[in-house]
Amino acid sequence: MENTLLTDKFNRQLEYLRISVTDRCNLRCIYCVPKGIVPKVPHDDILRYEEILRIVNIGVALGIRKVRVTGGEPLVRRGIDAFLKSLGDIDGLTDISLTTNGYLLEKNVDMIKSAGIRRINVSIDTLDKDKFTYITGYDVFDSVWRGIMRAYDSGLAPIKLNVVALKGHNDQELVDMARLSLTYPFHIRFIEYMPIGNSRMHTGDSLLAPEIKKRIETMGKLVPVKKNHMDGPAERFRFEGAPGEIGFIRPMSRHFCSECNRLRLTADGHIRPCLLSDRQVDVKGPMRKGCSDDQIANMFKTAVRHKQGEHDYGPDSAFKVTDQMSGIGG
Ligand code: SAM
Repeated sequence: MENTLLTDKFNRQLEYLRISVTDRCNLRCIYCVPKGIVPKVPHDDILRYEEILRIVNIGVALGIRKVRVTGGEPLVRRGIDAFLKSLGDIDGLTDISLTTNGYLLEKNVDMIKSAGIRRINVSIDTLDKDKFTYITGYDVFDSVWRGIMRAYDSGLAPIKLNVVALKGHNDQELVDMARLSLTYPFHIRFIEYMPIGNSRMHTGDSLLAPEIKKRIETMGKLVPVKKNHMDGPAERFRFEGAPGEIGFIRPMSRHFCSECNRLRLTADGHIRPCLLSDRQVDVKGPMRKGCSDDQIANMFKTAVRHKQGEHDYGPDSAFKVTDQMSGIGG
């Protein structure tokens, strides 16, 4: 294992930084930023791009190798093209990826590719247009699908499609989502809903992976796919002969904390050791008061020290993170 200054007391090498570049989003998904109940972070409190780049450079010197740009919706932030290019110019980063809702993807595919990004995740919870409008608050399924197809035609790979499975909301459409893996080399990833921030959803709305898998296996047997080191938390499968894959991300029903290699940089400038804990280290405040790079490096190390062995979420727990997913970075 490579020696890094970001190895925690549980011997996890934290080499992956997820960056929320904005808490703003152009959709209003019922489980993430539902209409009317999510306060926006004031503009001045959002990290400027040059601040993010400074923090990333310091992280890379400590052992960060991989970043994902997320949000909120990263493609709504002005100047994202130049920012992605600057990230691509950082020596020592071996992997840069992006998570998007796909609404603005079609016209941004060339920009994303020219910034050196090869892997994207697109969130799409259903192929049913009416359900899509109900879940996201906007009748833009066609734009999202055109974006996915444009990304596919351009050779971006793998394209991972994130599906948050919600009881009574999109559970009838999960098989249709899984069927895409028979036609396209997409990775369809079913994610258990996590109760985070203000939302109209509840812990009980999470459809857990064993149940999702059971429903999908009505289509055929799922064969396990071997995982590799940089894979992330998805349990991977494919249908015999299919070009695409099926993945399950199970933060509620099977903690994958022991494999977690992530830190997060929130839109408002905190380093957060765990998505599912409100504990975080303020970087923006000290940085704007003129702190040194060494001091920022120490903030990374403090966050690493605070990373707990395991989060407290579970199908029956009442515990809930108060910060919004969009600001933390999903
Ligand atoms: N706007 C982008 C998008 O929609 O992909 C990036 C940000 S979004 C917060 C990142 C991912 O988090 C999406 O796939 C979204 O479905 C997922 N997500 C948001 N809230 C969630 C929750 N409470 N539980 C599980 N996944 C969630």
